[in-house]
Amino acid sequence: MKQFAVIGLGRFGSSLARTLIRMGYEVLAIDTNEANINNMADVVTHAVQANALEEGVLKSLGIRNFDVVIVAIGQDVQSSILVTVMLKEIGVKKVVAKATNELHGKVLERVGADIVVFPERDMGERVARWLVSRNIIDQINLSPDYSLIEMAAPEKFLGKTLQEVDLRKKYGITVLAIRRNGDFIISPGAKQVLEKNDILIVIGQNEKLKLFETAD
Ligand code: ADP
Repeated sequence: MKQFAVIGLGRFGSSLARTLIRMGYEVLAIDTNEANINNMADVVTHAVQANALEEGVLKSLGIRNFDVVIVAIGQDVQSSILVTVMLKEIGVKKVVAKATNELHGKVLERVGADIVVFPERDMGERVARWLVSRNIIDQINLSPDYSLIEMAAPEKFLGKTLQEVDLRKKYGITVLAIRRNGDFIISPGAKQVLEKNDILIVIGQNEKLKLFETAD
């Protein structure tokens, strides 16, 4: 089973660690702050109060053996960058680093972070989209241009088949699945009729998805 290490137990790091534990994974958590360690000691598999930048700390914890290490240090940009460099030098295969702004993100990428996440920026985008489009439930950005979206079937499409709605031609998007009463209709056929309370899981270009989301 995959093993995770989270460095930095601020709001982002602690939420991430809690979620991984809830999903059944083992999590090592490291933070310099005693209060943060005490808060998480009963939650994670191991909680260690230490400065990740101090000589030998990461190596003595066997950080190299973890499948994924998340650098969840945000405010202290310098530490976040230095810890990322150290992890890659030690030979950690997958380093995920949290960036507080675009420049921070670029530097993290340059120094070898395998995945850079922008929680505040992404959440802001998500909430804005959700406020504008009444139908959207969740969104995963696959690339800067393409997304996977979970959304309520727009009112005007109810009672119609996928063929009649013709999403592929009209909007250039594909319905991967329909969630109906807790069940999934995977890869629905052209004759599938859309019903009230249907949730659509669709994939497509962001520009086209925007048109579709506001189709009501
Ligand atoms: P958030 O915005 O998610 O709350 P913060 O940047 O406020 O994130 O919190 C980052 C956490 O990382 C803090 O709890 C801090 O003590 C911890 N931290 C910062 N530098 C180090 C370090 N070198 N080693 C271990 N933990 C660190």
